[in-house]
Amino acid sequence: MSSTEAVQDDGPPPSVLICLLRLDLRIEDNALWHFAHTGHAPPSTARPTSHNASKLPREEELFSRSTHLLPLYVFDEREVELSGLPGYVRKGPEARTQNFNFWKTGAFRARFIAESVYDLRSRLRDRGSDLCIRFGRVEDVVANLVKAFQDQSTNVEGVWMQKEMTSGEVGVEERIEERLRPINVPVKYVHCKTLIHPADLPFEIEETPDVFTPFRKRVEALGPAMVRPLYHAPAAFKAFPRTIPQTEDYSLDVTYEVDVDGLATADPESKPKDPKQTSFYDILRYLVLPLNEVHFPPTVEGSSILQQRHHASAFPLRGGESSALERLDWYFVRGKSPDSTTWGKSDPPPVARYKQTRNNLIGHSYSTKMSPFLAYGSISPRQIWQALMHHESIFGEDQNIYWVKFELLWRDYFFFVAEKFGDLLFHLGGFELATDPPQAQKKLVPGWWKTWDPIKEEPPQELTRMLEGRTGIPFIDANIRELRESGFLSNRGRQNIASYVAHDLGYDWRIGAEFFQSYLIDYDPTSNYGNWAYVAGVGNDPRASRRFNIIKQAKDYDSHGEYVKTWLPVLRGLPTYYVHTPWLLDAEERRRYGVKASEQIVTMDSYPGRPMTEDEGWKKHYERKEGAGSRMHGNPQEKVKDGKVKRFRKP
Ligand SMILES: Cc1cc2nc3c(=O)[nH]c(=O)nc-3n(C[C@H](O)[C@H](O)[C@H](O)COP(=O)(O)OP(=O)(O)OC[C@H]3O[C@@H](n4cnc5c(N)ncnc54)[C@H](O)[C@@H]3O)c2cc1C
Repeated sequence: MSSTEAVQDDGPPPSVLICLLRLDLRIEDNALWHFAHTGHAPPSTARPTSHNASKLPREEELFSRSTHLLPLYVFDEREVELSGLPGYVRKGPEARTQNFNFWKTGAFRARFIAESVYDLRSRLRDRGSDLCIRFGRVEDVVANLVKAFQDQSTNVEGVWMQKEMTSGEVGVEERIEERLRPINVPVKYVHCKTLIHPADLPFEIEETPDVFTPFRKRVEALGPAMVRPLYHAPAAFKAFPRTIPQTEDYSLDVTYEVDVDGLATADPESKPKDPKQTSFYDILRYLVLPLNEVHFPPTVEGSSILQQRHHASAFPLRGGESSALERLDWYFVRGKSPDSTTWGKSDPPPVARYKQTRNNLIGHSYSTKMSPFLAYGSISPRQIWQALMHHESIFGEDQNIYWVKFELLWRDYFFFVAEKFGDLLFHLGGFELATDPPQAQKKLVPGWWKTWDPIKEEPPQELTRMLEGRTGIPFIDANIRELRESGFLSNRGRQNIASYVAHDLGYDWRIGAEFFQSYLIDYDPTSNYGNWAYVAGVGNDPRASRRFNIIKQAKDYDSHGEYVKTWLPVLRGLPTYYVHTPWLLDAEERRRYGVKASEQIVTMDSYPGRPMTEDEGWKKHYERKEGAGSRMHGNPQEKVKDGKVKRFRKP
């Protein structure tokens, strides 16, 4: 069959439903697949109407009579730099962050996205479907595909997608609608992003409380109605179009089958490959290639991205729904090993220790590690909720389970509050511009925040040191290095970095937010900018300032210095007493422990002799006894306060 023939020769006239996948790269609990396989409108809506229901598209009424279903994923040039693809001509500027010119999608996330897309394709193929993978600008690819189908007399029933909430994604939706309106192709949306369906909120989205606790209390009062049941994936999908018409868009032959489950192994691409075919690793190389140009800040060597993950990474998992489901099963259900024979009440899975471990810094099991999967929709928050309910049904209610639920509500809160305040999410003045304008204006006077213009000037030295992990403050440097070398960072680390950038250094907090945007595998606009604004004191925090005492934090949460030593090997020989404050070493001690004092570089045997900044408030924590408290508990300082551990004074 040639590429211009219709999708089907006989039977009902061919029609295609295009489902555009963006941040919902999964099969399970995805309303798109449910409604795409629902052939008739339901007799009446099952759910009562709520405040927001009248304003939202009524997804319950969606149904499809199309003969074919085309799942589509587009690598969008505005999000991921595509200039490394052979022959690709960008239509717009480089994929850089809004103000400070970082690459929007760094190498770790590029890899994670590619893994997620390939995994989705493999899972769709298992169900008799497939995934059309394209590169370009989403609205162009969609509009050109629709037109090409119509030109070959195939009706396009509609274009469906998950509704997103932040301006970049909403802009794409609007442009797709604009392009398809004149050719009468409807664009429809489903809502699967949040734990609580927006139509079920007990208030208008515009009335979302300005702080978290009232929000939480009001939604928790919904009881079991707070979270809708899951959509189960159809066992078999509607037919994938037999051919996809050619369009003017850039395309690659990505038909080469990759052993997705083996991506971490030595040679997942062992099958013979036609030279015209592009493999997963080819794509990865093309995506990572441009990121290695000399730009500020220097990126991690692309080659390391293509190899194994960092041995100490707290997120050693590949992207995609298969990986997400394995992790869900391990963390919430099965625990230590897939075939643990001791599984049961005496040996509950890791989630049963979440509240105690969530502030730890080392290893993968201290927290759920669901965030990257949630960010790309390889898992839905409802699936996690269901796993929590399942756990409770076996082990009973407990604080650990509640704490994960609590965090999932934070995630929802940031979505709804971002929807309420729109682009203030990305504004230096934050949501405070709406909630307390006089206070916000004070923080917008020139000089309140330090800044830098990436177009006109070199970055200030202290900023470069900060972003490269060379401040001479081990807890800061270790966290930055973990982020740069693995693409992941604990919540504790993120809070400390945010506080240090916004309060200790006093820089425009968005520099840090954009830096995180570039490097984090789990980057999500609302959680990232929402949390940065929160720590910077311009977000949804009822407290005026959330400045962290870095040395106190380091000693509370890394009391034995193991975390710092993991990411800063130069400090491995130091006794715990000095590990967070190496500037207290005298010359003789430096010789003994093999740490030379450098000006501002970090090597295998030298570390900055002085911290880049030193706060008076740190000094009272210099002398805390080594190892006070336990590494396994969130805040060992509590024990010090109880008076169980005596204060230690340096002789
Ligand atoms: C400055 C800063 C930037 C951040 N940027 C992001 C980001 O870009 N993407 C992102 O997903 N999270 C972000 N977070 C929130 C949080 O750090 C991560 O969600 C969490 O560390 C991810 O690890 P986990 O999945 O193991 O979390 P867990 O502790 O296991 O929590 C379970 C889930 O709850 C949600 N959650 C937990 N804490 C938060 C929080 N503070 N805000 C919103 N949701 C939360 C996440 O979806 C997470 O997966 C940021 C936090 C800070 C302080």
